[in-house]
Amino acid sequence: MKIYDVLVIGGGPGGNTAALYAARSGLSVAVLEKLSAGGQMATTSVIDNYPGFPDGVDGFELGQQMEQQAQKYGAETIYGEVTEADLLAEPKVIRSSEGDFAGRTVVLATGAYPRELGLPGEQDLRGRGVAYCATCDGMMFRDKTVVVNGGGNTAVEDALYLSRLCAKVYLVHRRDQLRASAVYRRALDEQGVEILWNSRVTALKREKRLTAVELEDVKTGEKRELPCDGIFVAIGRVPDTGLFTGQLELDSAGYIVADESCRTSVPGVFAVGDVRTKAVRQVITAAADGANAAHFAEEYLLNQL
Ligand code: NAP
Repeated sequence: MKIYDVLVIGGGPGGNTAALYAARSGLSVAVLEKLSAGGQMATTSVIDNYPGFPDGVDGFELGQQMEQQAQKYGAETIYGEVTEADLLAEPKVIRSSEGDFAGRTVVLATGAYPRELGLPGEQDLRGRGVAYCATCDGMMFRDKTVVVNGGGNTAVEDALYLSRLCAKVYLVHRRDQLRASAVYRRALDEQGVEILWNSRVTALKREKRLTAVELEDVKTGEKRELPCDGIFVAIGRVPDTGLFTGQLELDSAGYIVADESCRTSVPGVFAVGDVRTKAVRQVITAAADGANAAHFAEEYLLNQL
C-alpha cells in the first residue's frame, strides 16, 4: 500500500489548496476525488466573489485550474470513491474503488450535499421535476414554471438564475425574512421572482412528473396547491461525514469540529472547507483552510520525526 505524507479526501477548493501547499512544501500528496475537480464549486456557473476575477469565473473551470496547479507541484489526483476510512490507524488507511492508500496525515475535504425535503415521492421524482442544483438542471425547465424552496443565498441565487430561463419563478420561504445577503433583494424584484413568505412545502403532487406542490401557510395552517413543472430544493446542506462518524468529534449538525488550524480531535487528521465547523462557507474560506491545513500537517509530520 502506497504511503503518502498527506492524503486528501475531496478535490474541491479546500482539498486542492491543501494539496498545492503540501506539494510545494515537498511532501508527497494524493487527492482522492469521486466526481470532478472543484466539488460543489464545479456546479456553479459564475463565481462572482472569488478575488482576482472581476468578471466572475466559471466554477468548473476554476476547479480544473486548482487541480492542475496542485498537480504542477507533484500532487497526484486519483478519481475514485472512498468506501472506508480508518483515521485512528497509524498510518491512516483509506480504502477506495481504486485501491487502498495510506496517509501519515489525512485532510478531510468532503464538503456537504444538499438537504432534502424528506417528503414522500421526493427520491422518485428526482430528475422528474425535483432538482437540487439550478445551474446543473435549470435548462430542463426553460419557459416552464418552477418553485425554489429556501431563503438563503443558494435559494436566491437559484431563483435569479432560473428567472432568466423560466416563464415564472416562485421563491417559497418558511419565514417572512430572507437569510440571504441584502444585496439580492432588489434583484429578485427586478427579475420578477414572486416570493411566497411564511410557506412550507408539505407535499409533492405528481402524475408521471411533478405537477404541483402543496404549500402550507405556517401562520394559519391553511393549505393550497401551486401548479408547477419543477421544484429546486435549496434548504441548506448536510456535511458529508458518514465515513468518519464515530472516529472524530462532530458538532450537533454533523460538521467536523476544527478551528482555524483545521486540526480535528484526531492527531494528524485535518478538516477543511464546508465539512468543518465555521461561520462562512465560501470558496475563499475553503481555499484558506487548505493552506492552513497543509501548514499544520507539515508541522505535525516534523514533530513525528
Ligand atoms: P443556508 O444559508 O443555511 O439557508 C438555508 C435556507 O433554507 C434558510 O433560509 C432556511 O430557513 C431554509 N431551510 C432550512 N431547512 C429547511 C426546511 N426543512 N424546510 C424549509 N426551509 C428550510 O444554506 P444555503 O443557502 O445553501 O447556503 C449555505 C452557505 O453557503 C451559506 O453560508 C451561504 O451564505 C453560502 N453561500 C454563499 C453564496 C454567495 O455568497 N454567493 C452563494 C450560495 C451559498 P431559515 O432562514 O428560516 O433558517
